[in-house]
Amino acid sequence: MVDFRLTETDKAGLARTRAEALICRKYARYHDENEGDFPPGELPEAEEFYKNYPEVPAPGPEDSSLPVMAAYHAAGQNWGDYSVRMRKSADGGLGNAALAAAGTPEQIEKWRSMVLSMAITEPGCGSDPSRVQTTAVLDGDEWVINGEKIFVTTGTRAEGVVIWAPIDKEAGRAGIKSFLVEKGTPGFDVPHKEKKLGIRADDTAAYVFTDCRIPRENLLGLDESIPKASSGGFRGVMKTFNMTRPMTAAFGLGIAEAALDFTREHLEEAGVTIDYGTIDANEPAAAAKFKQLEALYEASMLTTVRACWLAGEGQPNNMESSVCKAHAGSAVRRITQGCIEILGPMGISREHLIEKWMRDCRITDIYEGTGEIQRLIIARGLLDYTRADLN
Ligand SMILES: Cc1cc2nc3c(=O)[nH]c(=O)nc-3n(C[C@H](O)[C@H](O)[C@H](O)COP(=O)(O)OP(=O)(O)OC[C@H]3O[C@@H](n4cnc5c(N)ncnc54)[C@H](O)[C@@H]3O)c2cc1C
Repeated sequence: MVDFRLTETDKAGLARTRAEALICRKYARYHDENEGDFPPGELPEAEEFYKNYPEVPAPGPEDSSLPVMAAYHAAGQNWGDYSVRMRKSADGGLGNAALAAAGTPEQIEKWRSMVLSMAITEPGCGSDPSRVQTTAVLDGDEWVINGEKIFVTTGTRAEGVVIWAPIDKEAGRAGIKSFLVEKGTPGFDVPHKEKKLGIRADDTAAYVFTDCRIPRENLLGLDESIPKASSGGFRGVMKTFNMTRPMTAAFGLGIAEAALDFTREHLEEAGVTIDYGTIDANEPAAAAKFKQLEALYEASMLTTVRACWLAGEGQPNNMESSVCKAHAGSAVRRITQGCIEILGPMGISREHLIEKWMRDCRITDIYEGTGEIQRLIIARGLLDYTRADLN
């Protein structure tokens, strides 16, 4: 039986994540307003916090699975701030997930200790990777990479990158391969950090490759063949997103929950009662609207937890990961904007974080595939259509 109730151990772990998040929240505005200033590797409060915080019991088989708790913790961290963490973890970037999904055992062994970003997007290509313009040409025992990548998450902090480039442009998606490139390789430059609407403290960079030579064995998965139809390596790397899309949904939902909590507090202070038990024709409009936003949050979190639960059970979750990403992408926008509508001027004042949360959660529907692209994936899954049938 599927049971998403949290155990006491689950709750204790989450309470700690939330306690950390509250400390991170104190630094949120500073890093929003000082975009060029990265949050430190460790906040001043970290040492004292971990010394004094009561020990959290280790999870056992009766507790929720790791992927399910990963979603709750991701949401819990972002309930504080999207980018500020008590201690920056060495968990790595999106490129590490691609390495784990498609690397050979030797590649995994060699590269896994590095933080790896993943660079697909270019000035003229995002949703449709078959339009990638970056080139990878074999010259003797080296690949020569030329091209430009933009909006690379963890782009500055990363020690290396998994970059997408076709080895045969005529072959479309089937010709696209992923390459491991280490920072410091001649011809690999990081010209700037991107300036953004929200998640401003987040490390998002642009990359330029000019005759950048890398060893032949840096082709991720080492398969140089071009399959007739898109498969193999490309699908292997696409699997990366089956867990990262639910995490992206959870990031946004953590921000939305912060907005809901802030709004609930202020409604209560204003004497507006949120009554869940009865249907009352005289219920204040603000309370009725608030409950609709909460319902949206609950539905979205449930799709996210379900996608993670399937991953934990070793079951396919390709469609479910797109469902939760598409749902959360739109839900978090409606929730944060709805909260601002309820709060009025307080909602847009920079004295409070809620206007920042509205900007921060906008990204949920953009990166790792936009909402429109997720809906295409869902439609193909439901109708059993191929990419050629529906694009
Ligand atoms: C903060 C941030 C971090 C990012 N991190 C990374 C990263 O780490 N690595 C990386 O490679 N990229 C990253 N991206 C890029 C992101 O993944 C792309 O912006 C996204 O995939 C959309 O691509 P695009 O911007 O080229 O838009 P386009 O593909 O040009 O799309 C423009 C609009 O058209 C819509 N659209 C496109 N095709 C269709 C279709 N067939 N049907 C209906 N609508 C369609 C899209 O939904 C979108 O609304 C990041 C972006 C941001 C903002």
